[in-house]
Amino acid sequence: ADLEREKLIEAHELTAKLYNYLLKNTTHGQQAMAYLRNRGVTDKQIDHFNIGYAPREWDTLVRFLDQRKFDLALMEKGGLISAKHDGSGYVDRFRERIMFPLWSREGKTIAFAGRLLGEGQPKYMNSPETRLFNKSRNLYNFHHARVDMRKHRRVVLFEGYMDVIKAWSAGVNNGVASMGTSLTEEHASLLQRNADEAIICYDGDNAGMAAALKTIPLLEKTGLKVQVAVLPQGMDPDEYIEKHGANAFMREMIEHPVSATKFKLIYAKKNHILLEEEGRKDYLLEAAGIIAALDSPIEREIYLKDLSREFDIPIEVLKQDVFHHREKSY
Ligand code: ATP
Ligand code: MN
Ligand code: MN
Ligand code: MN
Repeated sequence: ADLEREKLIEAHELTAKLYNYLLKNTTHGQQAMAYLRNRGVTDKQIDHFNIGYAPREWDTLVRFLDQRKFDLALMEKGGLISAKHDGSGYVDRFRERIMFPLWSREGKTIAFAGRLLGEGQPKYMNSPETRLFNKSRNLYNFHHARVDMRKHRRVVLFEGYMDVIKAWSAGVNNGVASMGTSLTEEHASLLQRNADEAIICYDGDNAGMAAALKTIPLLEKTGLKVQVAVLPQGMDPDEYIEKHGANAFMREMIEHPVSATKFKLIYAKKNHILLEEEGRKDYLLEAAGIIAALDSPIEREIYLKDLSREFDIPIEVLKQDVFHHREKSY
């Protein structure tokens, strides 16, 4: 019914094939291949995720699409190529980048993310929002992950493409990532329709922890049970797997997430200097607030007991603080 849409999908599918071919079979691709190898990316990952390479030339894709009689104005609208400023034609949108095809829920290629082969800005570049691609609705790898999500009612959330890819090789078949934006309510509701539990596995830096903190209530609001895999300071899942291996990643990270509450306590703790009395007091007050937000008295009891033990403060005293918090919020 929608011819333009079909044409755009066809062009994206062919483009993904072209980029993958160029990566694997040309001298142009060798440098990109070396980059991927250096990062520990395997042939299996390249095939499964259909990773490719957009070469340096300014018109490789333009000529390819033109030869196949695609309407270049439509291709430009679809985000595959860009119009020249002087209006005299088109140039490739992605150049000299590792290419990650982004798929629709049905598994059709509808956009791309391209990564530089080294340092520089922007490190990742995505296709623009088009009639096919809406990044607040799409999640990287969703159509693959969905099968496992439905079977085990669980999803693992990552920040980056490379995290999803490496984790897949480690055995995480239910990994997805948002694409350079924070998770939206639409993402959360899509996940809730396919799973009961979510594990947030974001980068172990401040940005990642802050993002996890923001994502927790968004997911919980849909009814998903949320846990967090806490990575060592400064490491992301890709780096963790490269350094410690797939087994350690599964055992230590994915199979041992902490509860959302525990994560909030860990995060709060990081922001206080516990060696100082003032810092301890502030942390305890913040912790009381976090625990007070729990509806279940049993859960509150469990976290309060830990806190009481850790800081050698009678649990009855902590309970008074929690009680005040709860009074205030009603
Ligand atoms: P890599 O391992 O290749 O360096 P990463 O996934 O660890 O990438 P981060 O800096 O942790 O990169 O960013 C997480 C995600 O945020 C990326 O995977 C990408 O989707 C998005 N992102 C990062 N930098 C940019 C950028 N400059 N523009 C758009 N999106 C970006
Ligand atoms: Mn990061
Ligand atoms: Mn990262
Ligand atoms: Mn990384």
